[in-house]
Amino acid sequence: MVNRDDLNVYCNDFLSVSKYKDYCPNGLQVEGTQTINKIVSGVSANLDFIELAIAEQADAIFVHHGIFWKNESNVIVGSKKTKIDLLLKNNINLFAYHLPLDDHPEVGNNIELGRVLGIKKMKPVDSSLIWQGELDTDLKTFSSLIEKQLGRSPQIFGRLSRSVSSIAWCTGGAQSFIDEAISLKADVFLSGEVSERTPAVAKENDMIYISAGHHATERYGVQALSEHLSSEFNLKHQFLEVQNSV
Ligand SMILES: [Zn+2]
Repeated sequence: MVNRDDLNVYCNDFLSVSKYKDYCPNGLQVEGTQTINKIVSGVSANLDFIELAIAEQADAIFVHHGIFWKNESNVIVGSKKTKIDLLLKNNINLFAYHLPLDDHPEVGNNIELGRVLGIKKMKPVDSSLIWQGELDTDLKTFSSLIEKQLGRSPQIFGRLSRSVSSIAWCTGGAQSFIDEAISLKADVFLSGEVSERTPAVAKENDMIYISAGHHATERYGVQALSEHLSSEFNLKHQFLEVQNSV
């Protein structure tokens, strides 16, 4: 059991929230019950997820994508109103961690995805959100591993016969970081989505680009964070998957 405000302070410190300039508020986004026993985690606080959390009688939700973003309208109407209304009526706390969760050295999306995909010698790239490491497999085997682990077949661009040993990656919608991966001379850059320009950029620079799913690559940080909180504060925890093919 933990007090909501103590948990908020703990997470903000553990994830070094104040270090990041982000597109959303990190930490407690919607206030619910003061005493927290059961937490649920998921990638995004969409309506399907909130309904699952209510059915699980969660005291707090932990997500990577919360419900407030800087580029969105500030007014609370439509589905945003529905979601906030459901959280308030059910007294559920909503905690969201975006960039601080991607980047964290123990429970972050990048390190957790690297573990899931068996990447060796993982390390963050200085003053960047990208990580780098090494592969000890060929591209075909790595592709099968991604499909098996993430439950989704990746889209792969570039010269497929190329040998691969160094990899750079960043989870989610980080395809534009491909330019940074090129300057690191990585054989492979992996992220969650693909833009129209990405296949040509990969080909022109003789790099392999792997689009492995925004949702699929960002399932792991929030689970690792919630498992950590569960053992630290003796909380019940459950990860709730809401299918998303992107
Ligand atoms: Zn994301």
